[in-house]
Amino acid sequence: MNSGLRKEIINLVASGLLILILGRLTGYTLELLIAGLAGWIGWYLYNLTKLIKWLDKPTKQLPKSAGIWDELYYQLYQLYLRQRKARKKLKNIVDRFQSSTQALPVAAIVLNKNDEIEWFNQAAEGIFDLQKAKDVGSRINKLIRQPVFTNYLVRREFKETIELEFNHRQLAMIITPYGHNQFLLTARDVTQQRQLDDMRRDFVANASHELRTPLTVISGFVEALCEQGDSRIKVPLEKIQNQTERMQQILDDLIILARLESKASPLLHDPVDLEELIHQVYDDAVMLDQGRHEIVIETMPASIMGNRVELQMAITNLVTNAIRYTPENGLIRIFNNIDSEGVHVSVVDNGIGIMPEHIGRLTERFYRVDPGRSREQGGTGLGLAIVKHVLDRHNATLYVKSTPGEGSLFRCDFELFEEQKKEKAA
Ligand code: ADP
Repeated sequence: MNSGLRKEIINLVASGLLILILGRLTGYTLELLIAGLAGWIGWYLYNLTKLIKWLDKPTKQLPKSAGIWDELYYQLYQLYLRQRKARKKLKNIVDRFQSSTQALPVAAIVLNKNDEIEWFNQAAEGIFDLQKAKDVGSRINKLIRQPVFTNYLVRREFKETIELEFNHRQLAMIITPYGHNQFLLTARDVTQQRQLDDMRRDFVANASHELRTPLTVISGFVEALCEQGDSRIKVPLEKIQNQTERMQQILDDLIILARLESKASPLLHDPVDLEELIHQVYDDAVMLDQGRHEIVIETMPASIMGNRVELQMAITNLVTNAIRYTPENGLIRIFNNIDSEGVHVSVVDNGIGIMPEHIGRLTERFYRVDPGRSREQGGTGLGLAIVKHVLDRHNATLYVKSTPGEGSLFRCDFELFEEQKKEKAA
């Protein structure tokens, strides 16, 4: 037991005994007990008043008291000191955090649960023209009114970064929830980066266009020379023809990629009949394959939203790859299905397969597991980059599963659109 409390109890018991003895001697036990109790309550009230006063403004100078009150003052003062130290430490952390976020080249805005601005750093002042006096407390959607941001805010799925134009700048933004209903909006100025991207894309597109004409001329002459049938130069001419065809194919793919990058994504409200699309891809594949493989299709009625031409190009690329990388007489299956996750189109082969370390990089431009084999088969190294671009533009993803020596699965995963979601729910 605490020594102050023990002392207080001893005092109380001793006073009680004294009152009882005095009461016996004088015959006024009850009166003396009442007087003692009143005195004791008075002493407590007096000390409580002093305590409240001291708590209002705690100082080093502890009020003079005795017994348990002395102990109480001491303990409370220690608690106060500990709290003051913790507060100071916390303030230091907050100050340090604020000065480091002030110095960040990234705009940072703290929002509360009602999307009202609570705090922002210097970069945010510059990028969004914010002023403390005017803008703290106002809602962020009054400041950034672009529909892409409004939708992002309404959906409250803050996993991905969005890009939008604000005050003639291209900004990449993300909202990160933290703490209890607090949100940190960060925005990066990516104007220069986008300008460089545009320049790179335009350069590749222009260079490809420019090279196409001389190549067509070369190819025409080579064809004419081949037709003359001079056996001495037949072999080198054929080689030149093969290489020019390859170059034309690369240029065509580069132009397709540049177009996909520069065009706005297709509006996802035109339904594309998947069964019909797969049949078309199948017919083209059978023509290309000329009976070297067994190609089968299994389709079911389904549709996805998007651009038919782009989608056909993507699935055709997957089937062409399956043909390229499957030895003769191999089996290639093309099918579609629909489940709660979405609509899927798969191309499966029992060809050479791919080692796991390559799978993550297949959609990079010019990435080839075996460049020699790819070239031999007429590959450009751009097919899967085109597929990825098309799928990105349709909010879809490419899933690849493969076992070396056994074969590969390339699956396009599309989101269900609203009506399909409702149908599934019903
Ligand atoms: P390429 O024109 O070389 O086929 P792609 O971008 O279409 O280029 O594919 C990249 C690489 O991925 C290919 O070079 C090949 O190594 C590998 N690949 C693609 N599809 C398959 C497949 N079905 N089976 C095995 N490997 C494949």
